[in-house]
Amino acid sequence: MRIREDLVDASRYARKCPYEMAPQFVVIHNTYNDASADAEISYMKRNDNEVSFHYAVDDREAVRGIPENRNAWHAGDGAGGRGNRYGIAIEICYSKSGGPRFDQAEANGAALAAQILQRYGWGIEKVCKHQDFSGKYCPHRTLDRGWQRFLDMVSAALHTDSATPETSAPGTSDYKVGDMVVVTGYPCATAAGERPGRLLERYRGTVTRVHGSGTHRYHVDTKGWCRAEDLTPLQGQNPQTVLRTGSRVRVLPGAAHYATGQRIPDWVKGRADVILQCKEDRALLQGIYSWVYLSDLEPAG
Ligand SMILES: [Zn+2]
Repeated sequence: MRIREDLVDASRYARKCPYEMAPQFVVIHNTYNDASADAEISYMKRNDNEVSFHYAVDDREAVRGIPENRNAWHAGDGAGGRGNRYGIAIEICYSKSGGPRFDQAEANGAALAAQILQRYGWGIEKVCKHQDFSGKYCPHRTLDRGWQRFLDMVSAALHTDSATPETSAPGTSDYKVGDMVVVTGYPCATAAGERPGRLLERYRGTVTRVHGSGTHRYHVDTKGWCRAEDLTPLQGQNPQTVLRTGSRVRVLPGAAHYATGQRIPDWVKGRADVILQCKEDRALLQGIYSWVYLSDLEPAG
């Protein structure tokens, strides 16, 4: 099954996915509609309702509309609810009328759930239903036909190749110790992907260890274990993007906090400065004499 991305524009985050999220489980829904995955995602993206979900899946494909590291509004348990704040939502299409299209969409939904479990190193207990969070009878048709039956479909898919993430192709994701990389994702305490830590965004670092197996095989600096798909090689970018003492840099407009925790005032952003000292993930800037994360800096020619 194809998994395609049609992500909500970042300008719509405030309405559709305002919070960063370290996902903890999958939440299964039925759309109670007869629209395709493509139509469900494009409608979700353009309407102004605080309703959103990470994936819609039909008989042909899965479409991702919200990044997995942001929350979505789907579980009916409020702004601070566990379902809304920690769940990766999968909407299974064509549930209103059912029939063969729904049968295939449900099978694809099980395969997608299995793929997600595999990526995060989760077990079958991480597959939840909307009903668990708000009491709503959803996923209605899947429940009608038997929840345990659906879980069995996920378990079966877990043990086949269809659950292997498409991004794990060898060669494209092979990093070795010493490689400079840019990380966006959640570094974990183990190569098996346990205990994810704080979200890194455009963090520049070095691969310090490589594990032979696991979902999170690459250890970056002191941050933890990362997935191959969270890394992009720093080579291939402009070599001047490697920042060091003396580099002229600019603080990115999206930078929020200094490495020491205080908020970065607006006047600092976009201003050219010079690196006085570099330490691990941060740099001391001469002009403002403050520590800024390297990931919040760009070279200023
Ligand atoms: Zn639902």
